[in-house]
Amino acid sequence: MNIVLLGPPGAGKGPQAKVLSKEFNASHISTGDMLRDAVKKRTPVGKLAKSYMDTGELVPDNIVIGIVTERISQEDMRRGFLLDGFPRNEKQARELDEALRKTGKKVDIVLYFKTSPEISVKRLSGRRVCTGCGANFHVKNMPPKNESSCDYCKGRLIQRDDDKAETVKRRLVIYEKETASLIDYYKKKGTLREVSGDLNVEELFEEIKRLFAKESLRGAT
Ligand code: ADP
Ligand code: ZN
Repeated sequence: MNIVLLGPPGAGKGPQAKVLSKEFNASHISTGDMLRDAVKKRTPVGKLAKSYMDTGELVPDNIVIGIVTERISQEDMRRGFLLDGFPRNEKQARELDEALRKTGKKVDIVLYFKTSPEISVKRLSGRRVCTGCGANFHVKNMPPKNESSCDYCKGRLIQRDDDKAETVKRRLVIYEKETASLIDYYKKKGTLREVSGDLNVEELFEEIKRLFAKESLRGAT
């Protein structure tokens, strides 16, 4: 099954993608993670992307579409994928459809994480990330055992530059301006399913499993 996760920053797409990819044995593709990795390694893509990411703007389409089409052409995509953070505008959505069509694939379901702005802002501003292994924590919802070091690798925990208050505001504006119209785009295609991004990871995981169980039942009758 090929799934797209859609929703504002702080909707919990990343943590949910992690549990869903295990449950459905699908590959988790996060364009945010891929770009952050490129920045860390100072690759040409990373150098280009950095200034956009730091200010909360979208990285230019040709760069992001390039890395995604490259990724979805790889062998492990055959078992299905979970796209997290892509597409973020209609151009990316159309290019994704086209790239998938060429290889006989399609987006089966789009999970739209409907999320209250207050909740997403709280999640983003409290998020702490490990500089060693990339693990995510939250000062209130998922506190690390030790305030400044990672539970898993003892790496240093930091706040992402784009999780600072001003940039969070900008990211939410960009989401409304560029990405929110994808709700209609996928509604028209009949693939959109709305779930609640306000729930915690476990509760939402249960909601999504129930939704999938209902869908396959419907498919069988
Ligand atoms: P979030 O979903 O929490 O905003 P991500 O980790 O998905 O964060 O993305 C971080 C940043 O990476 C974005 O603000 C943007 O600059 C860049 N980015 C990620 N995915 C895309 C995309 N599909 N198109 C353009 N820019 C992207
Ligand atoms: Zn770590």
